[in-house]
Amino acid sequence: MDPAQLQWSARTRAIQAGRPHGPGEPINQAIVGVSTYRAGAERVYSRGDSTPTWEALEEAVGSLEDGEATAFASGMAAISSVLAGWPVGSRIAAPKDCYQGVTALLTNGIANGLWSVTWLEPDDTATWIDAAADHDLLWLESPTNPLLVVSDLPNILNAARDSAAVTVVDNTFATPLGQQPLNLGADIVVHSATKFLGGHSDLLAGVAVTRSAEHLQRLRQARTLHGGTPGMLEAYLVTRGIRTLPLRLAAAQESAQTLAERLAAHPGVIGVRFPGLPDHPQHTLAASFMSGFGAMVSFEVSDAATADRVCAATSLITHATSLGGVESTFERRAAVPGQEHLPPGLIRLSVGCESVSDLWGDLKAALDSATMTQSRGSSR
Ligand SMILES: *Cc1c(COP(=O)(O)O)cnc(C)c1O
Repeated sequence: MDPAQLQWSARTRAIQAGRPHGPGEPINQAIVGVSTYRAGAERVYSRGDSTPTWEALEEAVGSLEDGEATAFASGMAAISSVLAGWPVGSRIAAPKDCYQGVTALLTNGIANGLWSVTWLEPDDTATWIDAAADHDLLWLESPTNPLLVVSDLPNILNAARDSAAVTVVDNTFATPLGQQPLNLGADIVVHSATKFLGGHSDLLAGVAVTRSAEHLQRLRQARTLHGGTPGMLEAYLVTRGIRTLPLRLAAAQESAQTLAERLAAHPGVIGVRFPGLPDHPQHTLAASFMSGFGAMVSFEVSDAATADRVCAATSLITHATSLGGVESTFERRAAVPGQEHLPPGLIRLSVGCESVSDLWGDLKAALDSATMTQSRGSSR
């Protein structure tokens, strides 16, 4: 990347990084449909030798995370390629609350005799610091999906820096605009680019970012050997999504704060989890190292049936899984296979870019009708 770009703010780099620069070139990196290159030069076959379209995406994400990025077919392709680098018998520490696909992948690896996993409370900093001494890999996700617990990344990553443990942070929820874990000492950052980076719920993609030449080489090798390569159209669309990430996130984040406050004041809501609320257990910690609290809000109503009624009663907010799109989505997380341990009435809301007054009007009407049904029901 042009060194001048490093001086620019993230908002500018999101727009400028990963473009061709020569005179007469298109201002956007084109979608290059290629599996094989004409013989006689360095590039031979795209699975191992990359494509200009992937490289534009890697330059854009690398610029925002301040490292070297490798693009993958999905967040899980990035995550499993990171894990592919560890020898059989590795000791992994991972959060008790974390993306359910990661929990399932780690659990599967235990069953297959690949590694052992110590499950830690994401907010119990001392246990993470201890784990750095006798684990090979610390897998962190902060804020966590879906409970929005914030880990003390500065202290944990700093403690792990002097140990042999490699640290990985899933930065999907915060985005590189909310925090840059490499700058806090992480070895590898992963993203589901399906979510905020892509931003339009129209693709699957993933990215892993590192500053270490050794980890970069392993990630590229895992992509070549396991074949988790991104589609060319997807890579193009994520790059395009990143151009508006700062604007989308700023709007969604502001609405998330407003909605979290209003939800907390609604009589039908028994709890709200959002790092931007002063009563969030890690609010002060989050404010100390994050530059925003994100656009994810989890809230709880009394029980599963009430939550299901809320999810069925909105007309604007889409009842759907996934998150990070311009359109707001929500779902009852304990209804998701593998997530039955969560509070039954917990709803995870991904705040999009619609008008906040429309969003609140929709949410309030759904809550009013769903919780009224409940009090009528219980009085009988
Ligand atoms: C969605 C998600 C993933 C998995 O990404 P895919 O693109 O669905 O493979 C990983 N981590 C977090 C935090 C996620 O939300």
